[in-house]
Amino acid sequence: MTGAETPTDSVVKPLVGISSCLLGENVRYNGEIKLNSVLKDELGEIVSFVSVCPEVESGMSVPREPMDLFVVNGNTRMVTLESGRDMTQLVATWAVEKLNRLSELNLCGFILKARSPSCAVNSAKVHSELQLRTDGAGLFASALRKRFPYLPVEEEEGLKTAAQRERFIQRVFNLYNSLRR
Ligand code: SF4
Repeated sequence: MTGAETPTDSVVKPLVGISSCLLGENVRYNGEIKLNSVLKDELGEIVSFVSVCPEVESGMSVPREPMDLFVVNGNTRMVTLESGRDMTQLVATWAVEKLNRLSELNLCGFILKARSPSCAVNSAKVHSELQLRTDGAGLFASALRKRFPYLPVEEEEGLKTAAQRERFIQRVFNLYNSLRR
């Protein structure tokens, strides 16, 4: 269940955070289901997932307005595309608390949804006066990487091939084994 900080099974396996929508949870802004069954079923055999949806857990509804990142006076803001509401502080405040709670779990990795203004590692749209880029980091992904710089973190798009998943799992188990020593 989203936000419970509880792994999805009770067998002792490395704990890996994951964007809730990739597990098929109904949390997307448009109500679409984006289950990634390869991750859920294949990786779910060897790790226990901790489901996190920054937008729903910080209080947003399903459905909700789409949002993008905008550079305003040198700062990155997350703003709704229709009504222009700035949601940055809501997510940033929630993220501090959430990351405090996640720090107690000894997470060994995190898989994040691509192109999201909250979850993307390096593929979110970023608008500025000069250009539209598509290589931005979402607000939660940025906070996560700053708080846990040693954590293996990948977008789901970086885990499409068996070789990519194998490399990620190796990094997860390296951290898992070092934490158990
Ligand atoms: S991409 Fe992140 S914020 Fe968006 S629905 Fe998925 S988990 Fe929630």
